[in-house]
Amino acid sequence: MKTIGLLGGMSWESSLGYYRAINEGIKEALGGLHSAKIAMVSVDFDPIEKLQNSGDWQGTAEILSNAAKQVQAAGADCLLICTNTMHKVAPQIESAIEIPLLHIADATAEVLVEKGINNVGLLGTAFTMEQDFYKGRLKDNYGMNVIIPNELDREIIHNVIYQELCLGQINLTSKDEYLRIIKCLAEQGAEAVILGCTEIGMLVNQDDTNVVLLDTTHIHAQKAVEYTINAESYNK
Ligand code: GLU
Repeated sequence: MKTIGLLGGMSWESSLGYYRAINEGIKEALGGLHSAKIAMVSVDFDPIEKLQNSGDWQGTAEILSNAAKQVQAAGADCLLICTNTMHKVAPQIESAIEIPLLHIADATAEVLVEKGINNVGLLGTAFTMEQDFYKGRLKDNYGMNVIIPNELDREIIHNVIYQELCLGQINLTSKDEYLRIIKCLAEQGAEAVILGCTEIGMLVNQDDTNVVLLDTTHIHAQKAVEYTINAESYNK
């Protein structure tokens, strides 16, 4: 069986979700006592967050490239960066390793294409909502029209991620705010909303709204499961 490589810890709260979703996916596909073969390196998020805030993305790229090399050395056949935001430095990480990177935006876009969706709302950190490394990939490579919340709402979304969700705090007032913003994106023409931050699924899920939600943690984890199951060399 292929070994799935995980670059986690950003935050560890969401890495828990990856571990569970990948193992559940393998169990569903193969049954019985099957579980995923995983090689994971989990980083300390505090210095990463400080570098993000000071705009030192090169600093984050160095830490994550080294961690990715450790994942590869541990025998991983592919790599998942378990955060949307840090895909900003995906090109640097990718060039530091030989194993394939399963990009979270590609995995998400493939689901959108499959569902025939062209207009999509995006929630995530301010970096993910405002910069081009994620949105641009959806637009340029898949022709998506990406709708993001207004400035005030982007600030609410961003602060809840770093001040609550990454610390494992679930606040019902924040949940109401997220649901209000999701509704607002749908009213602006979004046929679905991407939960483009790996912690958001801890706060809202499909049972909370009629708007179609795409949880990137689950989509990314499922991509890794498919990679494992479809691998030619797969051998129980
Ligand atoms: N896990 C989050 C994401 O998916 C945010 C934490 C980070 O900055 O990496 O974007």
